[in-house]
Amino acid sequence: MGQWVNEEWRWNFDWRRDPFGREENLLAELSNMLDTIRGNNMKNKWIWVLNSTNVFTLKSLYVNLSAAPRRILRGSCTCLAPQKVQIFSWKSILGRLPTRSNLSRRGALSVGVTSDCVWCPGIQEAEDHLFCRWN
Ligand SMILES: [Zn+2]
Repeated sequence: MGQWVNEEWRWNFDWRRDPFGREENLLAELSNMLDTIRGNNMKNKWIWVLNSTNVFTLKSLYVNLSAAPRRILRGSCTCLAPQKVQIFSWKSILGRLPTRSNLSRRGALSVGVTSDCVWCPGIQEAEDHLFCRWN
């Protein structure tokens, strides 16, 4: 991935194959972006951001978790989409729609029925295939 050389981080990517065509331009763009980032070799540490002391306390966790449902409800009340659309979207994001792939995982598909998409043999019928990458 990279290494520190004279107090400076040098990226060193190992590609499975050499980039070609458009990928070379993208790689040069990535390299330019990464060159602008200046890190330091200080050790990383965890910071608890849910209270002002940045130290984990069970109370701060409890207070924030207790407030979470109210925040979620407040967010959904301002949405103009019908509730059934919100629920469908939420289930889709969580990967909980009754797609063939999910039904197969739960053992709920009939014998002889595969988890493949009806129109795309060999491709699992899952949320990302149905709503994002269908072709
Ligand atoms: Zn398909």
